[in-house]
Amino acid sequence: DRVVNKIAAGEVVERPESVVKELIENSIDAKADTIKVFLKKSGKREIKVIDNGIGMSYDDALLAFERHATSKIEDVKDIENICTLGFRGEALPSIASVSKVILKTAKTNENEGTIIRIEGGILKKVEKAALPSGTEITVSSLFFNTPARKKFLKSDETELSRIVRLVNSYVLANPHTAFYLSNDGKNLLSFSSFENLETRIKKILGSDFLSFKIDYPHLKVEVFLLPPEKALKSPIKQYFLLNGRFVRDKTISQSVYNAFKSVTSFFEGYPQGVIKLQILPELVDVNVHPSKLEVRFRNQNEVYSTIKEACIKALENREKPSKIT
Ligand code: ADP
Ligand code: MG
Repeated sequence: DRVVNKIAAGEVVERPESVVKELIENSIDAKADTIKVFLKKSGKREIKVIDNGIGMSYDDALLAFERHATSKIEDVKDIENICTLGFRGEALPSIASVSKVILKTAKTNENEGTIIRIEGGILKKVEKAALPSGTEITVSSLFFNTPARKKFLKSDETELSRIVRLVNSYVLANPHTAFYLSNDGKNLLSFSSFENLETRIKKILGSDFLSFKIDYPHLKVEVFLLPPEKALKSPIKQYFLLNGRFVRDKTISQSVYNAFKSVTSFFEGYPQGVIKLQILPELVDVNVHPSKLEVRFRNQNEVYSTIKEACIKALENREKPSKIT
């Protein structure tokens, strides 16, 4: 059974970034409004996530590490109605099977919390303790028992830049949540809950972005783009938000790219910017992939042309004389 866990872990846990992703999503699902991520050695040595969410009871905390014990799917139809980011009850068991985990958690208004220590999927210690409400999970020595997978990790720099991009995507998708990220004690990101989407975009992209909005009843497109000369060799500052969730999608990236192409002759590289889409839920299928990063639009052509139009308008706006203030 432990071997099965380790193999299955490969689907969820590929690198430090995947651990950070699962832990942040759990904190969001737990309604935390402050999420702090502390890394050591780009997460290869340690990932600690602290939230002020609803916490877990003693029984829930133990169940959290049992595969599918917490699955929220009772019926195939349920998958359509899931409003939490997690639903398979797979992340924590998978993470715990390939690392050393310490979970400290306490429910709001309960003065006793729970501490659980698990190494390589083996329960080492469970105790009750006085803890602040919320959850703190420390994941250390990732892949200590699967050396082959450890070898696949990239340089500290690359692993860290993936995590920064990931956290930024949650920063944009959850504008009312405070986020903090540090590596080896060095502060990398810090967003208070008072910073709205626009201020967050400014902090992430820089203040010289160009924006435009198209507002149809069934489809709203808002684009915030860095000018073409700020294109980069990778889509590191390219963020797509669909109905408040970070997604990756070819239709969106193609349409943005083609807009840049049509406005700028000899455009090269990756456009950088934030594309925010609000679309009627029945017009989009988000369950194409379990990680929900990939989506399928019912009206793909319309989505494509509307994003392209918004991008072109944003880029052309710059050519107009700026407002006299
Ligand atoms: P899933 O998110 O798919 O339900 P996970 O393995 O990620 O599965 O988490 C298992 C369960 O542990 C969750 O359903 C939730 O009940 C609980 N849990 C995990 N992280 C937290 C957290 N930060 N705060 C409160 N509860 C949590
Ligand atoms: Mg989860």
